[in-house]
Amino acid sequence: MSSAPKLSPGVQKYVDSAQQLLAQRETALARMKKMKFDTIAVHGLYTVEEALERNQGAVIEPLYLSTSQAYADADELEAALAYLIPTWCYTRIANPTTYYLEWVLALLEGYRTGYDTSCLVTASGMSAIAAAVDPLLVKQKEGPERMNFVACIQVYGGTFQLFSVRKMQERGIECRWVQHPWDIEEWKSKIDDETRFIFMEMPSNPQQSFTDIKALADAAHAREVPLIVDATCATPALMRPIAFGADIVVHSLTKSITAGGFAIGGALISRKPITTKVKNDHPLFKESFAEYVKFLPYRDNGPAAAPVNALFALNDLRTLRSKMDLVSANCQKVAEFLQKHPRVYQVDYLGLPTFPLHEVATKYMKLADSDDGTGHEINRYGHLMSFRVDGPPENARKVFDHFKMIYRATDLGRIKSVATIPAISTHQQQGEEARKMADVPPQLIRLCVGAEHPDDVIADVDQALKSL
Ligand SMILES: *Cc1c(COP(=O)(O)O)cnc(C)c1O
Repeated sequence: MSSAPKLSPGVQKYVDSAQQLLAQRETALARMKKMKFDTIAVHGLYTVEEALERNQGAVIEPLYLSTSQAYADADELEAALAYLIPTWCYTRIANPTTYYLEWVLALLEGYRTGYDTSCLVTASGMSAIAAAVDPLLVKQKEGPERMNFVACIQVYGGTFQLFSVRKMQERGIECRWVQHPWDIEEWKSKIDDETRFIFMEMPSNPQQSFTDIKALADAAHAREVPLIVDATCATPALMRPIAFGADIVVHSLTKSITAGGFAIGGALISRKPITTKVKNDHPLFKESFAEYVKFLPYRDNGPAAAPVNALFALNDLRTLRSKMDLVSANCQKVAEFLQKHPRVYQVDYLGLPTFPLHEVATKYMKLADSDDGTGHEINRYGHLMSFRVDGPPENARKVFDHFKMIYRATDLGRIKSVATIPAISTHQQQGEEARKMADVPPQLIRLCVGAEHPDDVIADVDQALKSL
């Protein structure tokens, strides 16, 4: 048993007076947890008291651009840097604006899941993924030197590079790819005693890969392995994997969460506690993984989000639920149109009843707080879809080049419709063979439908297909 070090009376004074602030936060948290999804998205932990007492009454969360925080005296500085009082110190470690965003995301991802959650916001989606996996891929004092992790191969191109090049080629950490992630037996056959985590992206970008989260979480937990889910394309408005057993959720905030398109950002949200066999002396490691990462590895590695980006994300996500409802409904209409089009040989969208993974997605992709009139939530499948154009790859390029309103960009999750050809953009670096395994042929156009009227999106796609 380690006993807490004795604090000097001066330091103790600050620790004591912080209790009131902490109690206020607990009250705000308890109050917010009873609210609906939209209310949490609008307010988070930024309360009227917080505005009046600490922020000159500002209705909207202020943007704290200052790199650092000043302290009254040596005692307060000591208490702060020992993390004994709520503090933000220095923007690489924490920042008040980023803090407000972290709490909104923690609350939304934990919404009606039955679990408490914590959140860390990072500079990008990729840095959130790296921040989530690195602390699990560490040398252990005892036990085998070897380690592996298991991941679905239908992942974002950057994630594929991170896992296959940075981890496997450069660090010698084995990545075991799962080709059919909907087949839980394939996952089970790849998990062993040396597996540190399993990673699933769902719905995946661009293939719309999906799996039964609960069955996958059960398979992982049976081996004491955590399940990490990249739920960027769903957002917490449509799916909250923690409710079904996921330990850690990662997001690229750059996408639908910041649909306005002004900021790069990422988030790591963890369930309290996570399942893991990885030994770590720090109590937060298992109990509140996101906070552990924030206070230790993230502080040392330095992928801090810029506060201005955090504010853009915070401001955009207030209407996340209604936006995801709208853009999903629009995407459904465009997908249904394309499915009937004679020049299109395949449409991949979870919302199409003919799509092989439609049924399993129906179990999990539901608009928060919606009601279909019979007490059930409405299914919504997001705004990312892809379609394959008949004939040689040149045909897909021709259609792509003829879009008039839809933007050609390696981007998604926007309020405006954007399209790309993944084989020559997001998935270019991974090479022909891996693209085949991941099912990303050069005929495939990825389309992310925005908030325009769907008739206008359909008209643009239609005239582009007529160029053939
Ligand atoms: C874009 C994306 C990422 C990477 O996020 P960045 O913010 O671009 O670093 C990770 N996962 C998915 C599913 C993405 O679409």
